[in-house]
Amino acid sequence: MAFELPELPYPQDALEPHISAETLSFHYGKHHNTYVVKLNGLVGGTELENKTLEEVIKSSEGGVFNNAAQIWNHTFYWNSLSPNGGGEPTGKIADAITAAFGSFDAFKEKLNDKAVNNFGSSWTWLVKKADGTLDIVNTSNAGTPITEDGITPIITVDLWEHAYYIDYRNVRPDYLKAFWSLVNWDFANKNFA
Ligand code: MN
Repeated sequence: MAFELPELPYPQDALEPHISAETLSFHYGKHHNTYVVKLNGLVGGTELENKTLEEVIKSSEGGVFNNAAQIWNHTFYWNSLSPNGGGEPTGKIADAITAAFGSFDAFKEKLNDKAVNNFGSSWTWLVKKADGTLDIVNTSNAGTPITEDGITPIITVDLWEHAYYIDYRNVRPDYLKAFWSLVNWDFANKNFA
């Protein structure tokens, strides 16, 4: 049984004009797919190939961890975006954001600051902690919050340059503007519940 590349939740051109079809063709079609191909190459014929992706992530290190976590992180990222996303949060996540950060604008500012200062290839996450409150956390390389007990990811933004170099070159703050135009509050509410 091999790990598979999950289908994108929308067509590759659906995030335009914020994120181009060309970016998706590389980021999903090549980068995300390569993690799947590499993981299958590493775990084929071992006991890991019959575990779930989450089990592999929580019980591995090195190349197996890197590829497995990147598969999971990217699937979570695609779902954190939506052609119908953006704007102000709705539902219970809106109240939780106000409670944790004071206002949506203050939350945006804090996440942007964390993301802009997250060095190198990395991810910034909105997470729910064990006590039910929200926080913003950074990870590096393939790092993922699901390895920490009591932490539930709510949404993520991929800060590897392959996520934005075609559309925004090295200008991460412009890519973050695109992220805010696409962020999927329905997905955030589903994860928060
Ligand atoms: Mn990526």
